[in-house]
Amino acid sequence: MIVILEPQLGQDSAQTQSVIDYLRAKPGISPRVHQVSGAEQTLTEIYLVGNTSTLDREEIENINGVARVVKVSRDYAVLGRHGGDSRSYGFSYNGVTFNQDNLNIFAGLCAVDNPQHVEKMMRAVSEAGLQCTRMGAYKPRTNPYSFQGHGADCLPWVFELAGKYGIKVIAMEITHDSHIEEINAALEQSGNATGVMLQIGTRNTQNFELLKACGKQSVYPVLLKRGFGITLEESLNAAEYLASEDNRNVIFCLRGMKTNMGDPHRNFVDFSHVPTIKRLTHMPVCIDPSHSVGTRDVSPDGVLELMHCTAQGVVSGANMVLVDFHPNPPKALVDGPQALTMNELDYFLQDIAIAREAYLKRRELVQKQLG
Ligand code: PEP
Ligand code: MN
Repeated sequence: MIVILEPQLGQDSAQTQSVIDYLRAKPGISPRVHQVSGAEQTLTEIYLVGNTSTLDREEIENINGVARVVKVSRDYAVLGRHGGDSRSYGFSYNGVTFNQDNLNIFAGLCAVDNPQHVEKMMRAVSEAGLQCTRMGAYKPRTNPYSFQGHGADCLPWVFELAGKYGIKVIAMEITHDSHIEEINAALEQSGNATGVMLQIGTRNTQNFELLKACGKQSVYPVLLKRGFGITLEESLNAAEYLASEDNRNVIFCLRGMKTNMGDPHRNFVDFSHVPTIKRLTHMPVCIDPSHSVGTRDVSPDGVLELMHCTAQGVVSGANMVLVDFHPNPPKALVDGPQALTMNELDYFLQDIAIAREAYLKRRELVQKQLG
């Protein structure tokens, strides 16, 4: 059950406190307060965790300061949309806003290899007017003898270069909760030169202890990849783990499903779920065309299949694109065959802009249709 307070009531107001005290006195119920930033206003909401079936909704709606009470299903209690809620939610991190209406591009290296390549990438991203990138320091690899990333050793120079080029947010996969500490320490040492979005990879979507660790901290937002061999519902429940520990700054990333049905793509592209996730939850939705398509195959019209798939996700309202680039793909230590090159960055962004404009026109059209 979610108790939504009157818009003027802040998290720390006396009236909010008295509503919380009232609810806390109910047996078996623990209230949790959240500030929800919408496009027009910030609302204070109290989530009631526990056995809410004995609660009287009308009684709670009559408490002074309560605007409305929404019954939630057990599914995605915090991240889900409940009771016809169509509000726009989002969050800002290090000056960058993430929500279900805008679009952020994270072009970067699948794996950090050397300072020269990182600098080339960051310079290109910055010259293209972008504020975000991806940089893999901890790489989960199928083969134990493959390069697993430079780990904590590369963080000082990666963060310093990010600061030099004005990069605000780096998506960085972590595979163990100790990596959060390593990132904390390196960021602090860099004088907080940049920000990090913790990425949980598809192999760890159901690593519940890692999810809890990322959920318990509220400094970094989390990019959760869909599990490649589980249902969408199971992956959305994994996202809810983060929120249930109190981190609601979660972005959900589609990256294709592991099945031979998707051949010759590396994974079966699942970007048709972009609007579905937006309907079921408040999370901004990211697409990762690199790990979905996994090749640089070109369609007869001259367009890379990877770019066709990106456009398909963007034209359906994707809010973030996570994409592999590399200054010299044959020399990349991880995933070179799917990487785009520096001289394709501008072209890639122009192509995305066309798809984004088409999406915005489609939104206008449906508004006219609905009157
Ligand atoms: C990645 O983004 O570098 C990655 C390993 O992706 P995934 O977890 O989707 O395989
Ligand atoms: Mn990769």
